[in-house]
Amino acid sequence: MTSLTEQPVFRAVQIPEFQDSTTGNRFRQAESILQKLRQTGHEAYFCGGCVRDIAMGRLPKDFDIATSALPEQVEALFPGRADLVGKSFGVVVVRGEHHSHLHTEVATFRRDGPYLDGRRPSSVQFTSAREDVHRRDFTVNALFLDPGSPSQIIDWVGGLEDITSRIIRCVGNPHTRFQEDKLRMLRAVRFAVQLGFTIHADTWNALCQLSPDVTTIAPERVRDELTKCFTSPDPARALDLLHDSRILHLLLPEVAALEGCQQPPQFHPEGDVYTHVRLMLQHMPQPAHPILAWAILLHDIGKPCTFSTDSSGRIRFNGHEIVGAEMAERLLTRLRFSNADIEAISTCIRLHMSFKDAPQMRQATLKKMFARPTFLTELELHRVDCLGCHGDLTIHEYLTKKFTDLSREEIRPAPLLRGKDVLQLGIPPGPRVGEILDRAYDLQLENAFPDREAAFAWLRKQIQANLEDTPTHPA
Ligand code: ATP
Ligand code: MG
Repeated sequence: MTSLTEQPVFRAVQIPEFQDSTTGNRFRQAESILQKLRQTGHEAYFCGGCVRDIAMGRLPKDFDIATSALPEQVEALFPGRADLVGKSFGVVVVRGEHHSHLHTEVATFRRDGPYLDGRRPSSVQFTSAREDVHRRDFTVNALFLDPGSPSQIIDWVGGLEDITSRIIRCVGNPHTRFQEDKLRMLRAVRFAVQLGFTIHADTWNALCQLSPDVTTIAPERVRDELTKCFTSPDPARALDLLHDSRILHLLLPEVAALEGCQQPPQFHPEGDVYTHVRLMLQHMPQPAHPILAWAILLHDIGKPCTFSTDSSGRIRFNGHEIVGAEMAERLLTRLRFSNADIEAISTCIRLHMSFKDAPQMRQATLKKMFARPTFLTELELHRVDCLGCHGDLTIHEYLTKKFTDLSREEIRPAPLLRGKDVLQLGIPPGPRVGEILDRAYDLQLENAFPDREAAFAWLRKQIQANLEDTPTHPA
């Protein structure tokens, strides 16, 4: 448990130049807001993740400010640029003077009242910087930065020491802090894997005791925190922490069920499905893409319920990719993923077994595969799928070569024949038109038609031969 030290620790710190232009702009904007607050007699500091990141020599994402100014005072200081986004929490978002798309969060120092709903305090009281520190989640997130000369970090809770020792530790009693706001349990895991820190024993024990409460967290927040976990630099460790705390069993039971699901050893020498997925997460390229991360995590969730053994005793998972894609759709809907994300992830899952047939695929089938918007993610899923078991990348290399040898135009050429061509030759509107066009497009992808004339000649021949017949391959 952290104690409330009477005197904070001050540590001089050099604020970097921020060569990256977005970060530089964000910093300059936040600094000018902070200076204005100070010039008008208020106390103001940088706080939260940016101070932690500066102390660690990492690039901050955004620069939050904590101040003694009341929300109305902040609003009045930045007329036309301030939005009171969390009135009851005293949070004002100030838009940039020169870059209006850049937002700086300015929060009034506050003490939280009792938490009644497991997520937000029922009331807050505006107070001092020292007390504001105690409503923050982890010591490493509870540092203030005074950008004066010299710039210094102000630490009331041992956050600097915890950064040095690479520890995630709740501010105050971890049990109380997790009970107040259940989301903090997911944040603890997320910061541990994003920063490569260990979770302090007391914080970890409280987290494991209270993990059943994670089911009450809003699904959108679960989605965002889990996505940050699985796209962190150490997604396999994220899986371990979620598994060991049983958060995985509660939030992603479909993934927890992979543990103990045996596979044929000749194809999967690594072991059960869970081990396979864990290995794949280790092989996932960095920086990780969320669609790929979720596709890896879920690609085999159809295996436990399709498990069977054939007459020779070999383990089979017939149709697991179809069942798995449907399960993934339900899971991702539950976590409020967007329709576009659900479609992309479930497509990767549904089609992941087709890659083994690639060497036997016709040119048209390959081109249609390459034309799918998810193809490159599917190809990467296939690569890490192989690396997570036998390690044979022959098919990946074959497809990469085929794909790079073809131009975009060759992969997805404009169709030589259109609906009006078919209708013009007397086929009535209806499904038959689509069937003929699909067949014509397949032939076009097989390079069967040198030009539109040849395609049109084929079409005329089809229709003349027999309007009701199945179209045939050109002679
Ligand atoms: P990131 O770099 O991912 O943005 P961050 O530490 O800035 O990490 P934010 O979610 O942006 O995290 O929150 C900013 C700060 O607000 C945190 O550093 C922490 O001090 C405080 N905070 C955020 N969420 C909580 C919470 N659920 N409970 C307590 N304090 C919180
Ligand atoms: Mg932040």
